[in-house]
Amino acid sequence: MTRSETLFDQAQQTIPGGVNSPVRAFKGVGGTPLFIDSADGAYLFDVDGNRYIDYVGSWGPMILGHNHDSIRNAVIEAAHKGLSFGAPTAAEVEMAELICKLLPSVEQVRMVNSGTEATMSALRLARGFTGRDKFIKFEGCYHGHADCLLVKAGSGMLTFGEPTSPGVPADFAKHTLTADYNKLDSVKALFEAYPGEIGAIILEPVAGNMNCIPPVPGFLEGLRELCDQHGALLIIDEVMTGFRVALDGAHGHYGIKPDLVCLGKVIGGGMPVGAFGGRADVMAHLAPNGPVYQAGTLSGNPVAMAAGLAQLEVLQQPGLYEELAAKTRKLAEGIQAQAKAAGVPIAINVVGGMFGLFFSDEAQITTFEQVSRCNMEQFKAFFHGMLEEGVNLAPSAFEAGFLSMAHSDEDIEATIAAAGRVLAKIAAN
Ligand code: PMP
Repeated sequence: MTRSETLFDQAQQTIPGGVNSPVRAFKGVGGTPLFIDSADGAYLFDVDGNRYIDYVGSWGPMILGHNHDSIRNAVIEAAHKGLSFGAPTAAEVEMAELICKLLPSVEQVRMVNSGTEATMSALRLARGFTGRDKFIKFEGCYHGHADCLLVKAGSGMLTFGEPTSPGVPADFAKHTLTADYNKLDSVKALFEAYPGEIGAIILEPVAGNMNCIPPVPGFLEGLRELCDQHGALLIIDEVMTGFRVALDGAHGHYGIKPDLVCLGKVIGGGMPVGAFGGRADVMAHLAPNGPVYQAGTLSGNPVAMAAGLAQLEVLQQPGLYEELAAKTRKLAEGIQAQAKAAGVPIAINVVGGMFGLFFSDEAQITTFEQVSRCNMEQFKAFFHGMLEEGVNLAPSAFEAGFLSMAHSDEDIEATIAAAGRVLAKIAAN
């Protein structure tokens, strides 16, 4: 038995399913999850001493690679001064000013501790501000695990085939209206069916929890127009895309002005952080100035702020996002070329440092329905084949892949070559 297998057995005695977040359990692909000992740059090292080129990057935040010097040093320095004060610090002001500078649509921002808190709080604020209970989300988008957002959700919810969770009272979910991603007509129909009742639309500007689906031209613009027409707020959930797709977020990249933006793991540089912000007149409704309540003992934690600030500082280097996007394109196109050579049809989507591989013979994947039709057996074989080759991909066909600045040309070329061998085996079966 490997040490990972032993630990997984042991973990299942005291941790439900052996993991602290469901997708980690490898249920979607079968087998035993790797227990990680350490990580550095582009690599993960498991407890059995194996090295993997990593394309999960802690599910997005490790844009500079694992264990980056300047982030680690900032954390150590901050820790010397104390781990938590429950009182304001200068670092929080610096973080808020930096976010507001980098994301022009954000005039004020509140720090929280996770993406789940960010979306839950932004939604409460939007409902409080508009006085309307209903909101629209898209099938296959994941916004964390707040009750009303666990309806037709993506990520682990799709992996386990239960997109709506038991335990969410029907009364809590009845105001959640779901539409089809990239299909504006489905949104229009909801506004027509519920005139004056819809307070917000929430969406991932690039869907990253049903693999990776960019918005089709006109989709985001159309949502903005519909919100303006019907007096609803546009909440863009950039927990995954913020500071990954571009320095001004995916909404900046696509030129859309949201009313509220949710941020997450990326601004923590690996520490548990989230944030939501946007129009000052909307944020004014938040406690302590306004009536909409939201709070957090550890929010704005000084160690987390130090990590996030260190990462955001490096991310401002000129040319960084162009280089990250070029690396990502090289990887995805290289794998697609190997797939073509092997005779296994694969479609790809690439946006900045995010990519999606789809085992599908459709040329372009733009909808949830198309993702649902992909060949899951081929994905599983590919996932396990790549793991044996020393390449770590997300253990689900419904997750985006992530590159970091630490991935060298050699790492990318080695990954493409490994994909060629694995795809040839898949083709032979
Ligand atoms: N929104 C999006 C778009 C996400 O991808 C995620 C998590 N991957 C969340 C919200 C929830 O964030 P967290 O897991 O930090 O609660």
